[in-house]
Amino acid sequence: MKKGILLILTGASSVGKGDIRDLLMEDDDLHLFYSISMTTRPKREDEIDGKDYYFVDYEAFAQAVRNKDLLEFAEFDGYYYGTPRKQVDFLLNSGKNVLIEVEAQGVGQIKLKHPDAVSVFVMPESIEELEKQIRLRYNDEASAKRRISKASVEMELASLFVHQVKNTDPKQAAEQIKSYVQEALGKE
Ligand code: 5GP
Repeated sequence: MKKGILLILTGASSVGKGDIRDLLMEDDDLHLFYSISMTTRPKREDEIDGKDYYFVDYEAFAQAVRNKDLLEFAEFDGYYYGTPRKQVDFLLNSGKNVLIEVEAQGVGQIKLKHPDAVSVFVMPESIEELEKQIRLRYNDEASAKRRISKASVEMELASLFVHQVKNTDPKQAAEQIKSYVQEALGKE
């Protein structure tokens, strides 16, 4: 069976990856399956365990790392995030197209195992706009500052990506990303 396409969406914190992801997931032409990550971060009020993330404690996460159950993992703002390997492999091997949303540190680890993955770096409209979005989302100043400083480091990684998409309008950004996936599907 023909393997599915792996789409990796990355970019700085609060750049709007979530909105773009939702639009891509709703797109019937792409038939994307979302890979649910595992995290040690506490669940936010509006989140659902098993839908937004698998929320686990540190020990369970460490066990998953030891068992090599994660395709990649990274630390972000004091918490661990990782992509369950079996779920992604199963979907790709069943011919499904899979979307993974990760922060930039994780992309290299995924590309080693899936060199054909389509990876897209989402850029903010401007650094000022990104800072504004981070401050809107995180009213705890220390947390906002950490994310702003991490965002500027992550932006340095953008040039390593073949596909960079500016998020001025999530709909336009999603359309652009869709064209990259369709190009990759056509190539096979
Ligand atoms: P949040 O806590 O806001 O949901 O996510 C923080 C950051 O972790 C975001 O940039 C998000 O893309 C990233 N992230 C979510 N899941 C994963 C994952 O499985 N692996 C990696 N490396 N990063 C992730």
